[in-house]
Amino acid sequence: MSATTAEVVICGAGIAGVAAAYHLAVRRGVRDVVLIDERPALTLTSDKSAECYRNWWPGPGDAMVALMTRSIDLLEELARESDNVFCMNRRGYLFATADPARAAELVRFAEEASALGAGAVRRHDRGGSDYRPAPADGFEGQPTGIDVITDRALMRREFPWLTEDAVALVHARRCGWFSGQQLGMYMLERARDKGVRLLEGWVEAVETRGGRVSAVQVSAQGGARTQTAENLEATGAEGDPFSAYSISFADGPFAYKVTLFAFGPPGRISQEQLGEIAKKLYERVEGAPPPEQS
Ligand SMILES: Cc1cc2nc3c(=O)[nH]c(=O)nc-3n(C[C@H](O)[C@H](O)[C@H](O)COP(=O)(O)OP(=O)(O)OC[C@H]3O[C@@H](n4cnc5c(N)ncnc54)[C@H](O)[C@@H]3O)c2cc1C
Repeated sequence: MSATTAEVVICGAGIAGVAAAYHLAVRRGVRDVVLIDERPALTLTSDKSAECYRNWWPGPGDAMVALMTRSIDLLEELARESDNVFCMNRRGYLFATADPARAAELVRFAEEASALGAGAVRRHDRGGSDYRPAPADGFEGQPTGIDVITDRALMRREFPWLTEDAVALVHARRCGWFSGQQLGMYMLERARDKGVRLLEGWVEAVETRGGRVSAVQVSAQGGARTQTAENLEATGAEGDPFSAYSISFADGPFAYKVTLFAFGPPGRISQEQLGEIAKKLYERVEGAPPPEQS
């Protein structure tokens, strides 16, 4: 195996790796950065995202709201410097309920998000309020915070496509979507302009000496990585071309379903194995075992 040197080695050219390469090379002036992946950049998870962003997050603690506020600041900086090549908008997220019993809960969620730093809550419960609808494109000059709408006439006027039974709406404003692919390609191109090298391969091992990274072992396509795939297949059970495992749970007024998919030839991974992975992932994120399936 030939040896090369680099000051920084980034493992994986998804949006996280590409963003790291961009910030190191373009914003921090770090030279000699290598970005390693066996597949084309942004083609594993990062091209399957819904491409939405939001500063609306529940607690406990303000960590997620603070992280997202900083992240959205950075996204807006990138949108400005690129003439919004990735079409970032701020249409907001709209939560609606037709159940009067749940309206108060929705409002409580809005107040909680506001207290955690998502911006002010504005109530629109009678005519003549100052509610500002979101434009389809762009984000400049738009309100942040959260609009809570219980004025039925305002609902009908601004959201005529909603059921007439809706009794409360929450419009979280520093939210929207953009093209993640365009954002990634923009950052990747700028990073490559500043000398970032893309290397096709798989990081097999990271060697350390004295508590510091001393070397990164990389195999090219067809190397040890292929062997790993064969091992997995040999130990797999009979099954469908893909397996899926879902965990459903409720968090306040919101119902969630998290589904883990494994694609590949039959037998590569069983549904039971996938279920164990999904449960471990859930436990790592939530700090407790998943609730019983509903
Ligand atoms: C259906 C769906 C909808 C989503 N919607 C949203 C959304 O609306 N908003 C949002 O913010 N997020 C969303 N996400 C999450 C978001 O897409 C991911 O968090 C993000 O794309 C992860 O990027 P990443 O760079 O960490 O991982 P990836 O894009 O998966 O990239 C990881 C890369 O690392 C490479 N790699 C791994 N191991 C090695 C190794 N040993 N050597 C070399 N390379 C390696 C892989 O080949 C891959 O290319 C969604 C995700 C999904 C699946």
